[in-house]
Amino acid sequence: MKTTSDLAPEEFARHAHRLADWIAAYLRDVERYPVLATTVPGAIRAQLPTAPPAAAESLDDILADLDRVVLPGATHWNHPGFLAYFANTASVPGILGELVTAALNLNAMLWRTSPVATELEQVVTDWLRQLFGMGDGWFGMITDTASISTMYALAAARERDPALGIRQRGMAGRADLPRLRVYCSEHAHSSVDKAAMTLGLGLENVVHIACDGDFRMRPDMLTRAILADRAQGFRPMAVVATAGTTSMTSVDPIADIGAICQRESLWLHVDGAYGGSAMAVPEMRPMFAGLELADSLVVNPHKWLFTPMDCSVLFTRQPKVLRRAFSLVPEYLTTPDGDQVVNYMDYGLQLGRRFRALKLWMVVRAFGTDGIADRIRHHCQLAQHFADWVRVEGKGWQVCAPVPFSTICFRHVPEGETDEREIAEHNEGIMARVNASGEIFISHTKLGDQYVLRVAIGNLRTTEATLDRAWALLRGAVR
Ligand code: PLP
Repeated sequence: MKTTSDLAPEEFARHAHRLADWIAAYLRDVERYPVLATTVPGAIRAQLPTAPPAAAESLDDILADLDRVVLPGATHWNHPGFLAYFANTASVPGILGELVTAALNLNAMLWRTSPVATELEQVVTDWLRQLFGMGDGWFGMITDTASISTMYALAAARERDPALGIRQRGMAGRADLPRLRVYCSEHAHSSVDKAAMTLGLGLENVVHIACDGDFRMRPDMLTRAILADRAQGFRPMAVVATAGTTSMTSVDPIADIGAICQRESLWLHVDGAYGGSAMAVPEMRPMFAGLELADSLVVNPHKWLFTPMDCSVLFTRQPKVLRRAFSLVPEYLTTPDGDQVVNYMDYGLQLGRRFRALKLWMVVRAFGTDGIADRIRHHCQLAQHFADWVRVEGKGWQVCAPVPFSTICFRHVPEGETDEREIAEHNEGIMARVNASGEIFISHTKLGDQYVLRVAIGNLRTTEATLDRAWALLRGAVR
């Protein structure tokens, strides 16, 4: 007989109980696995059938493959030794939230397609606004990633002047449209360039402004670039200031940049994808002075707010403009709910939207604003300890950039070596050896022509002992 229904709830319960134990054991024993996957390209695919099964398989068999296929092929972001890129955490409340999100399968496209999904999103983004010490007047929405949040912010910036008629007439083939220009620092994330590609602004129209010795955008150079563009007949549109750049976590001078944006009538978007979470720590807020001048801000709870992938929060003080950029309501999506409700589909490209607010709400409640601040503060203290170890060690070890948050850029220079290519190769070797240990995973970047190593602390399981071990491995990897 053909089965045409779902598996029984009892079967779900049996396996979910088992899976809960499996997940708890994974979180407890994650250090048993090499943090960086040791698998070679194609090896995972080679163990799997190339075609899907025609006949149903048992959940017992499927779940057995978590140990056989999934774990050995994973790079373990939840491992305490994960110190690469921006380390993050799928915390216990966040994992529970994801489970319920999948079970409820709500769609937060319209208020009525699930009022709680919309209203919880409004509540939790406003909680974050308060957690970050931001003033009133910000509208918050959840997207998947900072890349999308920034693209939405720049779409709104482009729509701010409706006289350009871009929403209706597009940009292609229009002699009447000036070149629209976006400014960001030379260290801004590539998502700004990608947004310009996507929005039809063009990569050429993203102007990368030079930075000072601490990798912060130079306001004088910004002013100069804007004036030069105006003189050529270009149309400055937006500035993206970064609060926590990807390579070295520098913070652009938001207040100075904001003043320029006000004077020049430009949209100011602040990319705090990583660093923004530090606003949860009151004594760190002065770094973000001037944020009240911004039109939009992105912070990623999936980076440094202990929320599992994916979860990015876009704040804007111009929700009407964002709405104008994206709202388009076909007959089948009209509702009688009127202006009393927010229909989040009106503020972005997506119609269907995951119920991401639930996990974030659960994380904020389970840790509390004080607990979140304590955890972030602790990560910053760990980073200062690590930077001190590197400085005190000397013998060619150097810290290569200020450490405003929880990420350290450093390197080892062999005695007498001045050739940057040689130094880069030397540090690449150190990185390869420590990453091969399976105990830690670090990444690298370039600061100008300097190849540097990066340790990013953002996982709740990373302790001082983890870093002590990382430092021993690094010192031991010098040849
Ligand atoms: N902005 C900054 C400063 C980042 O560091 C990153 C990623 O590391 C991004 C944006 C992109 O984040 P996402 O992966 O959420 O698109």
